[in-house]
Formats: sequence, structure tokens, C-alpha cells
Amino acid sequence: MIKEKKIKDLLKENDIRPKKKLGQNFIFDENILNKIADSIGPISGLSIIEIGPGPGGLTKSLLRCNPKSITLVEKDVSFKGILLEITKNYPSVTSNLIFDDVMKINLDELEVLKKNRVKYISNLPYYISTQVLLKILPFHTNVLEATFMFQKEVAERLIANPHNKKYSKLSVIAQYCCNIKKIFNLNSNIFYPKPDVDSCLLNFKPKDTTCIDVYNELKNLTKLAFEKRRKTIKNSLSNIEGIKGLLEKLDIDDQCRAENLSVEKYTNLAKCLVDRKLV
Ligand code: SAM
Repeated sequence: MIKEKKIKDLLKENDIRPKKKLGQNFIFDENILNKIADSIGPISGLSIIEIGPGPGGLTKSLLRCNPKSITLVEKDVSFKGILLEITKNYPSVTSNLIFDDVMKINLDELEVLKKNRVKYISNLPYYISTQVLLKILPFHTNVLEATFMFQKEVAERLIANPHNKKYSKLSVIAQYCCNIKKIFNLNSNIFYPKPDVDSCLLNFKPKDTTCIDVYNELKNLTKLAFEKRRKTIKNSLSNIEGIKGLLEKLDIDDQCRAENLSVEKYTNLAKCLVDRKLV
């Protein structure tokens, strides 16, 4: 293997400066990058999709864990040279570089997802972090898990429980699809340039009970409920025909507010609405 260069030096050599509008806050500390890569468990024999590899710090730590293949999706083409240099150091790992906007790609159609077991990983660009998550939820059947870095505030919303101000539409729909575990917080000091907020690494493991029709219904339902989160659930869902009877049947107190209803109760309600459409 050719001696690897430091990511910071590669950036300097290629005269690349971080672009704020692309959410470019890089991690250079190899101990931290290795800790993130290790947190996704053994990956030999598995395929990895990394969103936003940037100058490849995390990519390098992942390659050292010897996955079967790695697919990199990066919008900023100025990293092409660096990423090619890094990946060519690991000839035993099949690498696939895609220079495109992740929001414009149909990730479920990627070749790698057809025949492989895949793990997603990303230090997400924060300006689109929730959009990226919502884009891949519910996971394709070949996705084993996803490990994503979010702004701490967004991570707190994702894992929030009922009766909490942070409990939101995002909490309900993400927790319906996945068991979500906090891995660790990361101080903003470790990023270059330093962002205004701290970060948090979360792991998402898909639940095998997820049903796409219920998921879609849940999205509509939680949009209505949380749009008017100070109203009682009876009022915020009043446009749904027969809502009073449904709430009664499911033993849901019609005076409670959006943030008081568990994921299970929202799911039961969504299931009833799906079943009703099928009749
Ligand atoms: N993985 C690197 C690290 O940990 O140091 C960089 C992470 S940086 C927070 C986010 C990366 O996502 C940047 O490289 C940025 O160019 C890329 N990015 C931003 N918007 C993107 C998009 N729409 N599609 C794909 N990549 C994007």
C-alpha cells in the first residue's frame, strides 16, 4: 500500500476550502473517525453506502475495516481526485463513486442494493439531514442498519418520547420504522470548520413489522396532529371522517394533545384508517 496522506494535507494540496452551503464540516481526528466506523460493528462481507464522504476521512476508516464494497455518494465533484486516491489504496474493496445530489438519486435502485446486505453511514450535511433520512425510510429490505450523525437538536427529536416538547412527527414516523439508539454525542470542536451546534451519532435498525401503507398513513396523520400541537387530538384530526368513534374504539382520550399519544397509538390509528380504505 502506498503511504497514506493526512486528509488535511490532501485538502491543502488540492486547494479545497470547505463550502458552507454544502454543509461541509469535516472531521480530521482519526481516533474519532475510527470510533464512528467501529460503532457500526464488523463490516467484512457487507456493503457500505456512505453519503457525503467529502475528503474521505470516514471513508478511510471504513475501508480499513475491509467491507465487501463501498458506494460513495457526493455532490461536490472537487473531492473526486482525493476520493480516487484514497479508494485505490484498498484494491480488495470494490468502490463505486457517484458524484450527484443524494436527493436526486433513487437510492433503492442502486445496483449494490440488489444483491448485497448493506449498511448506510454518514456524517450528514445538516441542511438536508432529516430529508435524507426520510428519503430512505422505510429501509429497503437489504438494508441492515443506518448510522447517521445529526445536529444534537435533531437527534433529540428523533429519539424523543411522548409527553416531551421534542416529541414530533419525525419521532413518530422514524420510531415506527426503526429501533433508534444513541451512540454518542460529539462536541462541535472536533469539526472543521466548527459548526454552531454539537452533534450526535444515531443508529437505526429497521423493525420487521413496518408496512408501507401504514407508514404513509402515519405521515398524513402526524402532519395533521402536530401542525396544531396545542389543540386536542379530536380537534386537530377533525377532518378525518368518524374520528370520534375511532378514538373511542382505540381507547384514545380525545382530549389529549399530539405529544401525548404514543407511537403505538398513532400506529393503531393509522392501521384502522388503512383497513377502512381497503373495505
Ligand atoms: N464525511 C466527511 C467527514 O465526516 O469529514 C464530510 C461530512 S460533511 C458534514 C457533509 C458532506 O456531504 C460534504 O462532503 C458535502 O459536500 C456532502 N453533501 C452536501 N450536500 C450533498 C448532497 N445533496 N448530496 C450528496 N452529498 C452532499
